[in-house]
Amino acid sequence: MPRYDFRCRSCGATFELRRPMSQAGDPAVCPQGHEDTVKLLSAVAVTGAASAGAPRQAPASGGGGGCCGGGCCG
Ligand SMILES: [Zn+2]
Repeated sequence: MPRYDFRCRSCGATFELRRPMSQAGDPAVCPQGHEDTVKLLSAVAVTGAASAGAPRQAPASGGGGGCCGGGCCG
């Protein structure tokens, strides 16, 4: 079950709740009882979404054709 971080705007406390994704947008109540809370973006709550953006830059293979290869552009 994903974990969501919330921040209370009344007392400034941050807290986390575990709830199903279907209730991710539901309002959360501060442990102190305040209802003026905002949900924080958490990058570590959901597993599987990270490490999906590995850079795929193939190194330039030296096969000739480069201008600077022969020292022509000095
Ligand atoms: Zn509070």
